[in-house]
Amino acid sequence: MMSETTTKVTDDVIVVGAGASGLVAAYRLAKKGHRVRVLEAAPRTGGVIASARCDGMLWESGPNSGMDTTPLINELLDSLGIREQRADARKIADRRFIVRGGQLIPLPMSGPAFFSTPLFSAGTKLGLLREPFIARSSAEADESVAAFVRRRLGTEFLDYAIEPFVAGIFAGDPEQLSVQAAFPKLFALEQRYGGLIRGLILGARERKRQREKSKNSAKSFSFNDGMQVLTDALARGLTAANGVIETGVRVTSIACEAEGCWTVCGIRSEDQNGEAVYRAGSVVFATPADATATLLASLKMPWVDDAVQALRDIPYAPVSIIISAWRREAVMHSLDGFGFLVPRKENKRILGTLFSSSMFDHRADETHAVLTTFIGGMRQPELPGRGDDVLQEMAENDLASLIGVKGTPLWTKVSRHPRAIPQYTFGHLDRVRRVETVQKHAPGLFFCANWRGGISISDCIKNGHLVADETDAFIASRRML
Ligand SMILES: Cc1cc2nc3c(=O)[nH]c(=O)nc-3n(C[C@H](O)[C@H](O)[C@H](O)COP(=O)(O)OP(=O)(O)OC[C@H]3O[C@@H](n4cnc5c(N)ncnc54)[C@H](O)[C@@H]3O)c2cc1C
Repeated sequence: MMSETTTKVTDDVIVVGAGASGLVAAYRLAKKGHRVRVLEAAPRTGGVIASARCDGMLWESGPNSGMDTTPLINELLDSLGIREQRADARKIADRRFIVRGGQLIPLPMSGPAFFSTPLFSAGTKLGLLREPFIARSSAEADESVAAFVRRRLGTEFLDYAIEPFVAGIFAGDPEQLSVQAAFPKLFALEQRYGGLIRGLILGARERKRQREKSKNSAKSFSFNDGMQVLTDALARGLTAANGVIETGVRVTSIACEAEGCWTVCGIRSEDQNGEAVYRAGSVVFATPADATATLLASLKMPWVDDAVQALRDIPYAPVSIIISAWRREAVMHSLDGFGFLVPRKENKRILGTLFSSSMFDHRADETHAVLTTFIGGMRQPELPGRGDDVLQEMAENDLASLIGVKGTPLWTKVSRHPRAIPQYTFGHLDRVRRVETVQKHAPGLFFCANWRGGISISDCIKNGHLVADETDAFIASRRML
């Protein structure tokens, strides 16, 4: 059958991918007066961010919250007119639990709490006193998160604080993640101040001056109707600023038609034979690493090969999420916290559980509780692909032994993310630099997604801003020629 090709008007910028990264970049570019078009393969915008209600209870199939680490977040919310819908985490959500010996133990958040917690032995506590005197590693060393923590804080601290924390954020393995790539601020503390404790004290003064917050002092935020409020508002704001969003368009290739003119080809999902062709002066790839690799490869230029390989070498952790709703009296634990993380040493099937309805107001009434349980990651990558009933059973068994859930939940949802989180493993920064070399050969191509510059929503917001500003400067420089 012949395929029908339509050619669209020329845009200043095409953004491929309408997750948080792409939407932030597109919105900022549209606000600067550029003609922006966003092409999204899925039938909806938001990427992994998706919120819904069931029986009046809010559940998230992706992220539950962001961290307010930068003033850019409130500036964005003000610009979108959704600041008053922002929900700050309840005070009790400052409390996070770690499982040790099958018990939930609060993670100590202050010096006195650290010295009195049963989470760590006396040896580990005393070991902290020696941390300021441990020499820094070489700036060139690509050290693993595990090696870094073992060297500075000891094995028990790795096993019962950092390993579960890394599983909670990256669904990752600290033996594989590069400390410099995955936790650049931690690495910088050592490089700059010679140690973590000294760095925390001196760095806090510096951040105060720069109006930035560290991730451990920043507040968690969401919205009264969940994280999707943010991406929905970005999509609305973009349209109001004359940007165009086309969902259901999978971009399949790009080509350089002439200097300063990129052709972007896609397939519309509602019409498999309908190829759509667009032209723009710049293209922002806000897509996962594998999708970005496929699109770069379509350029068929020898100088993309190394970048394509670098993108394909970025591993992703698979995760499945089991969201379960309970009558409050069916859960024995007080649920007075953010949730709990399970260290590998505890030999459970789950990575941890968020007490989703305790974290924020407006999630569920006080007679109900919503729990969000994570399974898989790099620790047990074979688990997330199991059937819904198997995953539900794993979650319920571990929840029964750890927080005393009784009976069966009122309802359960399973959200699958076979490629959930990019892993910033050894050599990651080098891989990112190899991708960036493309920009030298191909002016007008930009990259902004969670495989570069941080995986958190706040990092995606920061990077979306940054890439929008780079693209804007590029367009301005072209206009001056
Ligand atoms: C399960 C889960 C829980 C998380 N929890 C948290 C949390 O609590 N807090 C936090 O800060 N972060 C969290 N994160 C991380 C954070 O949510 C993500 O890193 C961030 O939302 C990614 O945004 P993105 O725009 O870079 O990518 P995505 O959201 O993946 O968006 C990429 C978009 O590109 C589209 N696309 C792909 N290929 C094509 C193509 N060829 N053509 C057109 N479109 C295409 C995709 O359909 C998708 O919509 C979580 C992530 C996951 C997966």
